[in-house]
Amino acid sequence: MPEAETYLEYLKSNRAQAVFRLSQAVTDSLREFLGSRGFIEFLPPIVSAVTDPGLRGAERVQVSMYDTRAYVMSSMVFHKQVLATAFSRIYSFAPNVRLEPVRNAGSGRHLVEFCQLDVEEAGSSLEDSMRLAERMIAFTVSKVIERHRPLLDSLGRTLSVPEVPFQRVTYDEALREGAKYGLSVRYGEELPQVLEARISREAGGFLWVTGYPKGCRGFYYRESDDGEHVLSMDLLFPEGFGEAISGGEREYRPDVIKRRISEARLDPGEFREFLAAAEDGLRPTCGFGIGIERFLRYIAGEREIARVRPFPKTPGHIAM
Ligand code: ASP
Ligand code: MG
Repeated sequence: MPEAETYLEYLKSNRAQAVFRLSQAVTDSLREFLGSRGFIEFLPPIVSAVTDPGLRGAERVQVSMYDTRAYVMSSMVFHKQVLATAFSRIYSFAPNVRLEPVRNAGSGRHLVEFCQLDVEEAGSSLEDSMRLAERMIAFTVSKVIERHRPLLDSLGRTLSVPEVPFQRVTYDEALREGAKYGLSVRYGEELPQVLEARISREAGGFLWVTGYPKGCRGFYYRESDDGEHVLSMDLLFPEGFGEAISGGEREYRPDVIKRRISEARLDPGEFREFLAAAEDGLRPTCGFGIGIERFLRYIAGEREIARVRPFPKTPGHIAM
């Protein structure tokens, strides 16, 4: 926010009025799309004994409740597997809290508290999920343009409906691409955000990254047959807006989950309840999460994510 402007003044500004009306348009369209495909919306958990430990350098918020260790939800990935086992096609607009390192404060795309649209489908493959996600994005962008062009115009935003299927690169290709721009990464490490932003800008459209080596992704993503990679994808926005989606096929076999937890050097006790669900019999599922504020930031063409989230908390700064 500009120094001189109070938060209430920002909310009353023409810009914020347009951004938050677009926010409603985006969530309405996402619900319309998923509802038309038989997905059921669930209210999301806020705290849990188990939540995602793999957060690209961010930390979880641990709380003590009735002498039990709990976490504020960092991602409902484990809950999605359980719900999709029972209901086949599910989604939630889920609150996530991730204590991002303060060095990410100026990135324009990190919030400490954000909302993730979590989608999960039983019996679906990585390919199915990628096709679903790109159609969902194309549908939402097309509805926003069709129904709310004056709002986009008022923000000076020109958007066009992306063509599906989106372009794809593998992790290995992304490393080679990055090297061309002097961005070198050790094989097996996560793709740095500058590299993601750069290759997505060069791609000139939405870009999928697949074929990640397993060490740099969550233990819950299913291994490829070679045992070295995971069936997982990220989607990058065009124009250098960076990461849009993470997702993949899930590991559901209790023995493999236990092995993956120990390979990731995590405490199996922390995942007791998830392991109990797996022992009960999880179905193979696949899904993804898309940060709503990041999607809205792209739609609105707003580089500063704090402007598209009501009452934003940015790394190192907790406000109202
Ligand atoms: N757990 C992932 C994340 O929050 C999303 C997913 O795999 O569905 O980044
Ligand atoms: Mg991610």
